[in-house]
Amino acid sequence: DSASHVAKRSGGGSYSFYSADHDRSARRLSLSTRIRHAIESGDITTEFQPVVRLQDRSIAGFEALARWTDPILGKVCPSEFIALIEASPLIDDLFDAVLHQALSAALAWQPESDDRPPVWVSVNLSARQLRNPELPGLILRAVSEVGLPTDLLTLELTETAILEPDPTTDRALHVLRDAGIGFHVDDFGVGYSNLARLGELIAKGLLRSVKIDRRLVQPLPDDGAHALLNALRSMTHALGLDVIAEGVETEAQLDALTGLGYDYVQGWLFHRSMPAHDARKLIIGR
Ligand code: C2E
Ligand code: MG
Ligand code: MG
Ligand code: MG
Repeated sequence: DSASHVAKRSGGGSYSFYSADHDRSARRLSLSTRIRHAIESGDITTEFQPVVRLQDRSIAGFEALARWTDPILGKVCPSEFIALIEASPLIDDLFDAVLHQALSAALAWQPESDDRPPVWVSVNLSARQLRNPELPGLILRAVSEVGLPTDLLTLELTETAILEPDPTTDRALHVLRDAGIGFHVDDFGVGYSNLARLGELIAKGLLRSVKIDRRLVQPLPDDGAHALLNALRSMTHALGLDVIAEGVETEAQLDALTGLGYDYVQGWLFHRSMPAHDARKLIIGR
């Protein structure tokens, strides 16, 4: 910014850095206090973004996304507030709130006639949470309290969450999978993909689908992106998993993904995230 340029030119480079860092850490500090308070007082809400089946453009499921509006700071994006609490037990409290809202929403939006397939909900898990030995019990209790069939819940895990073989993580994945809960690999292609580990988890039948990160999808229909997305689709299908493209914003991206044989897409071209009652209205019509 211009202020720091001025400071640097006048020989005050270290001062300008101090000043930018200081603003940033002041915001972090204030946000950390406020997010803690918001979670403790139940002020986190959940919105739902449809995942569309490409074959017939129907809604296959919804992703639950945490939303927080601070009375003073306004809307804060989840990537910012989640980074602040990821290393603390608060992440479990946030997850618990989002999970409960997601399960009740999903119960309310199931189609009333048997000739339409049920509509799943997916909830994001942070990497560290899988190392909490109490996690599977917490999830299974919530699902049975609400009464949603377990196979309508999927959990989204980033590559980092499953990268390192870890006995507690493996146990959690098995217990939840045996109960019928599915797993998506989230943000695939932009992290550190340990393909050996991925293969191991697939061989054990622990994964249901792979979500390709929007940074790979958005350059479509560029040749390079097209070739890469084709390779990822073919890899995913060869492994017996479904493939979901994230961040679809344009008709050109949609046409490319349709041509490539993608199973599902999620993105603003179809729908943004919405409150639970709007999600229900989309499926049930009221
Ligand atoms: P994510 O899990 O990859 O979620 C998808 C993100 O992409 C969402 O951002 C969604 O609003 C955004 N998105 C969807 N379609 C489009 C599109 O067409 N264009 C663009 N530019 N963006 C699109 P959001 O809601 O801001 O969430 C950001 C991230 O925060 C999520 O990425 C997820 O990693 C994390 N997050 C959100 N809610 C939770 C939660 O309850 N728990 C945890 N652990 N993480 C969460
Ligand atoms: Mg996700
Ligand atoms: Mg994602
Ligand atoms: Mg993402």
